[in-house]
Amino acid sequence: MKQFKAESKRLLDLMINSIYTHREIFLRELISNASDAIDKLYYRTLSDGDTGLNRDDFCINILPDKENRTLTISDNGCGMTKEELENNLGTIAKSGSLNFKKENEQKEDIEIIGQFGVGFYSAFMVSEKVTVLSKAFGSEEASKWESTGTAGYTIEPCEKESHGTTIILKLKPDTEDNHYDEFLETYTLQNLVKKYSDYIRYPIKMDVEKSRLKGGLNSMVPIWRKNKNEIKEEEYNEFYKNKFMDYTDPAKVIHSSTEGTATYNALLFIPARAPMNFYTKDYEKGLQLYSNGVLIMDKCADLLPDYFSFIRGLVDSQDLSLNISREMLQHDRQLKIIAGRLEKKIKSELESMLSNEREKYEEFFKNFGLQLKYGVYQDFGAHKDVLQDLLLFYSSGEKKLVTLKEYVSRMKEGQKFIYYACGENVDRVDKLPQTEAV
Ligand code: ADP
Ligand code: MG
Repeated sequence: MKQFKAESKRLLDLMINSIYTHREIFLRELISNASDAIDKLYYRTLSDGDTGLNRDDFCINILPDKENRTLTISDNGCGMTKEELENNLGTIAKSGSLNFKKENEQKEDIEIIGQFGVGFYSAFMVSEKVTVLSKAFGSEEASKWESTGTAGYTIEPCEKESHGTTIILKLKPDTEDNHYDEFLETYTLQNLVKKYSDYIRYPIKMDVEKSRLKGGLNSMVPIWRKNKNEIKEEEYNEFYKNKFMDYTDPAKVIHSSTEGTATYNALLFIPARAPMNFYTKDYEKGLQLYSNGVLIMDKCADLLPDYFSFIRGLVDSQDLSLNISREMLQHDRQLKIIAGRLEKKIKSELESMLSNEREKYEEFFKNFGLQLKYGVYQDFGAHKDVLQDLLLFYSSGEKKLVTLKEYVSRMKEGQKFIYYACGENVDRVDKLPQTEAV
């Protein structure tokens, strides 16, 4: 049988121009690769103990250089030999990381991010030339890989002091519409690290004009990966307020992790108050979606049904790939399973709030009840079974909010009908001639 030959040039062109919607993600991809490279060496440290390295020795560095219009990302991870450079960066869709993951499958705590062998090439979305200097751990020689994109690449020996990889991006020239030099601004870089790579497990540092900014740019430990028992309520509340820009503590925190057909951590919040624009077209539902702590999408709408659109929060799953487009994600089976689980979880949390914290639930219902009621009516009533036990109605007899179940359980013997009136408020409904009649 004959083998297909990949049209590398066209593939690369496709890669650079179509896979990603936002070119800023190139930084996320390079940082994720650096983190993978450090992981690999770190695991070797753990399993062989022969490296003489400590966990604290590892870090990722970002260095913007406005004068030369370069952005350098370096790591002190496993590095690459000449052959590895050739294999991993010379072949599109070849992932050294996926191989590593397969070889070490039985080991716990492996959190390698890469697997598709395409992320690296996102560097060409912003660069006219990419230079990679790399020295494999334990090797004497270093090599330089260089490419301007579709034209091909060169590899030659070079000098490099210590193991690891240094990637130098020569940014494209600015045009009227494209300002590549924004990626040389400390502020932009800090924000991008915060946005996408905040939970990379090794410190990300930035050298600015030869003086290092104090400390790492990233938080490193995601709160949702911590043990529930070790997290204080205030910690959740602070996280919520910072991350989702609310002034008020959430009414409820739902923190859950699951393994099995879908492995994920979810941290969900029910806001104490409906956002100003909640009942308008401007409101955008969705949860943040992470793959192994790296942000894939800020508002993944597919994770929430409309009737639970008030939920804020995030999902982190190692089953989801980083290099996935919005369109592909919509058809992702894993994502559907997760969404289904979350819906059940949210519903059961609301039910337990209803039976155990009645006052709180009524407050919740004041804010978001309309959305639930609309959910019952929406899609020709398809969701009414899910939602009916979550609804509250004002009872004219009892002068308070009751559920349908409660109403039925207290119904007078022989009562055949339940009358239900809609209106602006209870007063108005009381004054309806129909109400007086019954
Ligand atoms: P993926 O990360 O999905 O495997 P990439 O295109 O991002 O794909 O990278 C391709 C391969 O190049 C990686 O699998 C890894 O083997 C190698 N690689 C990339 N960056 C580095 C780095 N900083 N250090 C060591 N190896 C790297
Ligand atoms: Mg990668």
